[in-house]
This record gives sequence, C-alpha cells and structure tokens, in this order.
Amino acid sequence: MDRAADPATTALFDQVDASRLHTEALLAADGRRLTGTVSTDQAPPWLAAARAAHVGAGRDGTLRTCAHTTGIQPAAVLAEIPDRIVCWDCYKAAQAHRTCLACGRPAGSTSLLGGVEDARIGLATLYSRVLCTPCADPTTPAGTFGNGN
Ligand SMILES: [Zn+2]
Ligand SMILES: [Zn+2]
Repeated sequence: MDRAADPATTALFDQVDASRLHTEALLAADGRRLTGTVSTDQAPPWLAAARAAHVGAGRDGTLRTCAHTTGIQPAAVLAEIPDRIVCWDCYKAAQAHRTCLACGRPAGSTSLLGGVEDARIGLATLYSRVLCTPCADPTTPAGTFGNGN
C-alpha cells in the first residue's frame, strides 16, 4: 500500500508508526531493545508461521483480541496463540505462564527453569515466542525473562 496514497492512508500509517514507537519505548522501559524489523523473506520459521497464522485468522474472521485492545496500540501476538492479539498489559501478564513453542512445556517466568523469549516487531505488533531453557538456542538470546536468564 502506498503510504501517501491519500490523507486517510497517511493518517493510518502515522498511527501505526506511533504505535511501533510506543512499543519500542515500553520495551526500552523494561531494558529491552529489539534489533529493527525483519522482512518477510528473512523471518525465522517460527515468526513466518506465527505471522501466516495471524494473517490467516484475520482473513477468515477468526482473529480475536483481548478485551482491552481498542485500536492501534502497543500489542503482541504470542506465537503459541497466533489467532489472538493481546494488549501490552495482557502480554506482560502472560509471561508468567507462557509455554515453550517447541515442546509445549512450561517456560514462563514462574516455571522452574523459566524461558527465553525471542520477540520481533512487525509493522507495529510485537511477535513473541518463548522456548524453555532446554530447547533454547543459547547463540541467539533476544529478550530473556524468567529464571532461565
Ligand atoms: Zn488485554
Ligand atoms: Zn521446550
């Protein structure tokens, strides 16, 4: 879509840009910094799969949001439930009980070993997966939380 096609499109993309900057500020407040956006052809398989499922849910009408998502705002897609958009507070709250995307074992911050999060910012939405410590690749740590630090 041409960002400058008409005033409404420009306004929409301005909102998306503002939401992405807000998301980056929220991450920075937690001492996290993500390394830019990833193009579709460079996305790791987990991200490509989560995005495809997310976009598919939007197309077939099964995409859900948490009750607090009211518009273009900082929000996340958890890779284990890609047909749902969660607001920032629900994203943060979910970290306690996330599951490993690879094996399904508990990998949240309250689990025995914790987990390792890999998160990437799409156009505006944060995509996040968590791996339990045994499944995590220690060569690509990006956003770790829980006891597995
Ligand atoms: Zn929410
Ligand atoms: Zn695992």
